[in-house]
Amino acid sequence: MTAQKRPRYAAKLERVLVDEAALAARVSQLGEQISADYQERELLLICILRGGVIFLTDLMRHISIPHAIDFMAVESYGSGARQSTGTVKITMDLRIDIKDRNVLLVEDIVDSGRTLSHVLDLLSTRSPESLSVCCLLDKKARREVGVPIDYTGFEIPDEYVFGYGLDLDELWRNLPFVGVAKD
Ligand code: 5GP
Repeated sequence: MTAQKRPRYAAKLERVLVDEAALAARVSQLGEQISADYQERELLLICILRGGVIFLTDLMRHISIPHAIDFMAVESYGSGARQSTGTVKITMDLRIDIKDRNVLLVEDIVDSGRTLSHVLDLLSTRSPESLSVCCLLDKKARREVGVPIDYTGFEIPDEYVFGYGLDLDELWRNLPFVGVAKD
């Protein structure tokens, strides 16, 4: 009998933190909640690339009201590094003018809060009708800058995670779960 091959990510994975079923259930709840809250308004979802992309595409399929989407790319960590550099750079801006729009930012994870704070400051200068935040994962214990979060998927401990859109050294964004990386 041949030994079962371990998946290649196994050497990097400490443990699964949020499994596929829990993600699906929570994302569906968030979609329903957002649909109810924005019932009378036209919604614009803004996804922060690249980590938020899987969350956005799952979330929007649970939002039953009409909505547009747009993307913004932000770099807050040096490539491959696991520590925040403290600097935030917009590397790709929106295509859509958000003036008078109801904007919901879709983020993968809020850690120190610097990235979100920077993006919120920038977007508020463009006079949206409303500006709210939906993040999948919140590492509250690491917060350095206070940021308003309207919808949270899961509060998680201070550990480096990957999968479901989040990278580990630019890889493994495709994993269907959120896992804790080995040191
Ligand atoms: P903040 O500016 O809040 O410190 O960091 C936010 C950004 O850092 C996230 O959008 C994400 O790109 C990255 N980040 C923070 N914590 C983690 C983590 O545990 N895993 C991964 N893959 N990225 C993280």
